[in-house]
Amino acid sequence: MELQVLPDLSVPLQRVNVYQHTQMKDVIGAMGGFLTPPAGRMDPRQVALEFTQANSLLIAKPYVLDMGKDKTTPQPPAIVQSSTVMRSPVGYHVQLQQTYEGIPIYGGRAIVHMTEERSVYFVTSDLHPDVPEAEMGKAEALSRQEALEALAAELPWKDRLQGEPHCEKVYFSHQGLLRLAWCIDLSLSPKTPIATGEDRSGDWRAIVDMQSGEVLQLLDIALYDDPVGRVFYPNPVVAMKKEDLAWNAAIPDSAYRQVKLSRLDDSGYLSGRYADTADTPNRVLETDGQFLYQRGQPGFLEVMAYYFVDHVINWLRRQGWPDLFRRPLRINACAPMGDQSKFFPYLWALYFGEGKVMDAEDASIILHELGHAIQEAQVKGWGVCEKNKPVRAMGEGFGDWLATVFFAEQRRTFHQGYVGDWDARGYKAPSTCLRRVDTSKTMNDWRGEEHEDGEIWSAVLWDLYQGLGGDSTQATTRRQARATAVKLVLTSHQYLSDGLRETLTFQHGLQALLDADRFTSADVTKPGPHEQLIRDVFAARGITV
Ligand SMILES: [Zn+2]
Repeated sequence: MELQVLPDLSVPLQRVNVYQHTQMKDVIGAMGGFLTPPAGRMDPRQVALEFTQANSLLIAKPYVLDMGKDKTTPQPPAIVQSSTVMRSPVGYHVQLQQTYEGIPIYGGRAIVHMTEERSVYFVTSDLHPDVPEAEMGKAEALSRQEALEALAAELPWKDRLQGEPHCEKVYFSHQGLLRLAWCIDLSLSPKTPIATGEDRSGDWRAIVDMQSGEVLQLLDIALYDDPVGRVFYPNPVVAMKKEDLAWNAAIPDSAYRQVKLSRLDDSGYLSGRYADTADTPNRVLETDGQFLYQRGQPGFLEVMAYYFVDHVINWLRRQGWPDLFRRPLRINACAPMGDQSKFFPYLWALYFGEGKVMDAEDASIILHELGHAIQEAQVKGWGVCEKNKPVRAMGEGFGDWLATVFFAEQRRTFHQGYVGDWDARGYKAPSTCLRRVDTSKTMNDWRGEEHEDGEIWSAVLWDLYQGLGGDSTQATTRRQARATAVKLVLTSHQYLSDGLRETLTFQHGLQALLDADRFTSADVTKPGPHEQLIRDVFAARGITV
């Protein structure tokens, strides 16, 4: 249908060529036609307002008419003019805001588009069809400050604000109802010293229910250049602090974290500098960089494996290990080899196994396996000897320790020394964890099985981290302790690169740590600054030199 040029702004239009975008969105207009004649040099805002009021039946029906509680008494127009006018090569675009009793309806906007000569040719609208429950939220309404306090529980903003938060009363559509709410915009500064996956800097919009204080919506509105993914950090048991979480329980959105996926090539695959999921069957391809999956969806395991391998290796790069991985570690995030995961030194690959809980759904399993790859990268052939020798137990212990110390902050008040506490929920007989780094094991408990004996080694390293300040109440001290512990432990690996692997013992491991402490300190002519601590934590487990 072709539109006719209309002689007068105030002539009501028949609804023409209305395209229903969504339940709420109408577009009024037509190719090659105009809704109104030119209006000379009239203020575009005035043109838009007059046009809208004259044609309210067409543009806003049923919205405007249904907005009134009492239809027998005239109600003020539900659409009022906003201040937004955008100039473009085509002309003007005037934004109108839907309101109820003077309070904006969130997202209720109509845009009137006109030529430079103020000839209206197109209207796009996204108006809310419902009448607000007018009394809702008015009693016991939260003040602006109370709403900000309520928000702090979900978005820790205190001491990180950049500028004043902007707070506005709105009607917000939630579960089919318009609820009175605070719309809060705020900017947060980055956490120093480093922006990591847990960093929440940037611009945020929050909608806080004015009656209950419930955060109805929380949006990270910063625009990233980097591709993004969704992961568990480290796993749902820790995120939900629920030890007996069932393997098939519904996992809420709050247990996930959105993260940047860095150092990808531009192939659209999870293929980057340090990791490449090339060995995963039916690997995902996202050319727009949006790798936002949930548990059970193809791609989720790949994102987990890619993200944590890249994230940890990049973190170690900043800790002083710039060239650990000279080529990407190949990943099969979903390998058909039962409920176990493996590192293949010759293939330079990590394969994650299956189970009710897939191995790559638990970041502590990913980090354990990554620990093997890190040792191999540092010392070629680290574990090339008969099974269950001390050097292999040191490998298992290091992987467990890396998996816990890396997530020490997330685990600070729950399952602190646990490894695989999500993976273990999917065992035949569900368990609370795969292993722990905080057992009381000493050399007297030596069993001749590399994973079990690895618990002696991981416990020593855990005690070292705690002694360096990992048990502090100060987050900065704990972070420094983690950095120091990782520096000492990784450096000590370099001193364990000689000889036949089976000749290495835990005593050699202790000596290597003492050497690492000395050679990473300012004065290498003296014993290192942590000599006594290192000797003490080893002696407590029955290891001395
Ligand atoms: Zn292992």
